[in-house]
Amino acid sequence: MTDTARITHWIGGKLWDGVPERQGDVFDPATGEVSAQVDLAAPAEVDAAVAAAKGAFAEWRNSSLTKRTQVLFAFREIINARKEEVAAAITAEHGKVLSDAVGEVTRGLEVVEFACGIPHLLKGGFSEGVSTGVDVYSIRQPLGVVGIISPFNFPAMVPMWFFPVAIAAGNTVVLKPSEKDPSASMLIAQMWADAGLPDGVFNVVHGDKPAVDRLLEHPDVRAISFVGSTPIARYVYETGTRHGKRVQALGGAKNHMVVLPDADLDLAADAAINAGFGSAGERCMAISALVVVEPVADELVAKISQRMGTLRTGDGRRGTDMGPLVTAVHRDKVASYLDSGVADGAELVVDGRDVEVDGAAEGFWLGPSLFDRAGPEMSIYTDEIFGPVLTVLRVPSYDAALELVNSNPYGNGTAIFTNDGGAARRYQFEVEVGMVGVNVPIPVPMAYYSFGGWKNSLFGDSHAHGAEGVHFFTRGKVVTSRWLNPSHGGINLGFPMQT
Ligand code: NAD
Repeated sequence: MTDTARITHWIGGKLWDGVPERQGDVFDPATGEVSAQVDLAAPAEVDAAVAAAKGAFAEWRNSSLTKRTQVLFAFREIINARKEEVAAAITAEHGKVLSDAVGEVTRGLEVVEFACGIPHLLKGGFSEGVSTGVDVYSIRQPLGVVGIISPFNFPAMVPMWFFPVAIAAGNTVVLKPSEKDPSASMLIAQMWADAGLPDGVFNVVHGDKPAVDRLLEHPDVRAISFVGSTPIARYVYETGTRHGKRVQALGGAKNHMVVLPDADLDLAADAAINAGFGSAGERCMAISALVVVEPVADELVAKISQRMGTLRTGDGRRGTDMGPLVTAVHRDKVASYLDSGVADGAELVVDGRDVEVDGAAEGFWLGPSLFDRAGPEMSIYTDEIFGPVLTVLRVPSYDAALELVNSNPYGNGTAIFTNDGGAARRYQFEVEVGMVGVNVPIPVPMAYYSFGGWKNSLFGDSHAHGAEGVHFFTRGKVVTSRWLNPSHGGINLGFPMQT
């Protein structure tokens, strides 16, 4: 072991004190240096976390809605007061710029605020007098221990899509965050403890495939919420459901922004920049395919490339616009698409490899890149690149744009830019995508709606948070009851008669 910081599991309200079999490097992507070693859980550590969560379940599910709501409000206040601290941890391990990291925590907080309304959200229905003296009512009860497995790109927000609702509904949680940026989850665990959440209700195990596999097969884990790439999402869904669990597995994306000729092209250019290069394109809702209906492509490409020249790439702590990619391996993979796109015949208008950087030379840098005249068969279009590469596809008509979007195997987010309300309305109706923006490039729903894509972007049938989140983390029960009318007629020795 080295003398770099060590990040370990949070089980039963305290740091795990065992000796890890394996550890992984955590990098500062802006310097390229290893900043910490994270313990990678073996099945035994996952078992310990699940046992802690199982042990805490009875007390937590029996605590009143008032008590649970008080803990949630306290947690909300603590994380709101300390969101810069969480953001700094995110920037130091993920690389996104600080303002973006604060934004991520803020969006996660919205789900905590939604979950503060859990007494209202858990209300059931009641039918009085369905038969003589008989009433029927429905209630929703927690599942037990639930597992949350999250990706590197939103180390605070994505877990916060799930655990506030899960905990508010009375479940206990084992979170397995990405091993690439594990620190935000540790801060959050401490904040739950400070808010008065009983030990064992929220646990964190760090790790990779062995930890995920143990969660998927563990008999005491009732449900799994997963977010990550499509191949792993499919695997998690199939393995988890085979082991009898309720699973929602959100996968990768290829998000299209359609620009019609009547759109405000300055607005569209700004939106393409923000949605294409924010967080260095490492967002599941990033726009990566710009579908431009002719004859405006020349003008729009010129406006976008002019704006790209003003973006400052560098260390996210220095007030830059775009930070590094998460690891050197990922940076190299994204950069390889710049070669394959050119080889396939697309026009590389802006090459991010030429970027001047405000940061350490060894950081995992790649500047914003722009392809024009790409075709739907090219790998720069078919693959989820997950980096700062925007690809323009030129099409002759709205119908051709729609066909392109609907032929894509992913269906997470999409946007249409137009001033034609009729065309926008048609698009929202016809497009086979779970989240649609009209002149809004990243249409992430508010916490009281549900987040989720279609097709290969989501396996299972429940989206995250909102009503679907409450439904996912509870199961329904219907009670049919008969109570006889009280009879206080006193003593009467007369012959019984109907009244
Ligand atoms: P990833 O699939 O590599 O990892 C996600 C999680 O799965 C991590 O916790 C990781 O440790 C675990 N994992 C990785 N390989 C595994 C394996 N072989 N078996 C079991 N578990 C494994 O994803 P990532 O690179 O961390 O995140 C980026 C991906 O997540 C992108 O594809 C992005 O689109 C997607 N994403 C989707 C959404 C959405 O809402 N649909 C949101 C955020 C990110």
